Amino acid sequence: MNSQILGLTDLTPAPIASVQTLEEKLAHVRSLLAAELLAAPGPDDACLTCSFQAEDVLLLHLVRELRPHIPVLFLDTGYHFADVYTYRDRIAADWNLNLINLSPANTVAQQEAEHGMLHQHAPDRCCALRKVEPLFAAVAGYKIWLTGLRREQARSRTALEEATNFTLPDGVVVRKLSPFADWTTRDVWQLCERFSIPLLPLYALGYSSIGCEPCTSIPTDPNDPRSGRWAGKKVECGIHIEAAPKP
Ligand code: SF4
Repeated sequence: MNSQILGLTDLTPAPIASVQTLEEKLAHVRSLLAAELLAAPGPDDACLTCSFQAEDVLLLHLVRELRPHIPVLFLDTGYHFADVYTYRDRIAADWNLNLINLSPANTVAQQEAEHGMLHQHAPDRCCALRKVEPLFAAVAGYKIWLTGLRREQARSRTALEEATNFTLPDGVVVRKLSPFADWTTRDVWQLCERFSIPLLPLYALGYSSIGCEPCTSIPTDPNDPRSGRWAGKKVECGIHIEAAPKP
């Protein structure tokens, strides 16, 4: 594995009083998933959002041990790399996924005809239309929302909790689980190798965080895996930002 490619240069764990081994972390995640999913009222009350990056696919691998047909929500913005669509379809077929592609209200052509290249001059608006609105509308239909988020991914995620009650803009509250919250990139890649999970070929080209093609480049800072997103103009698309409480 090429650690430079994976942005692992700064991932040497800082010495702390108690360091969990990877086996302990894996056992904890399996235990958490079992407790949460077995407590969920019905087999369709939990969903997993999946960008088909390594964390999401590893989490999907583990969740499928309990819920092989869990709804897998993919934000089909229309702006993804061709490699992402190819990889998504390959995993969906090989794992017989219950894949749900979430589409925005307008196609890319309709949006560009009406607003131009929003991703260039108003990326927040573009993300709101193509990611946030469709995702929140879909997630509102479930009680549990599983994500592959990790604290190490970005400064904006350092306070990420493993489990939280997430309030959507319409007031619906879902239980949001991020079982890999304290995992490192190395943890994820080691287990992907162990479980023989094929990964997006874009990683081998130097990408360390992969979103829509117009807003994703090779990271400019090897110590910041998301430094290639939105050319530094922003750090989050908005789907993981909880609505402010109404006054
Ligand atoms: S990541 Fe870029 S292209 Fe994708 S929805 Fe956001 S602004 Fe639009």
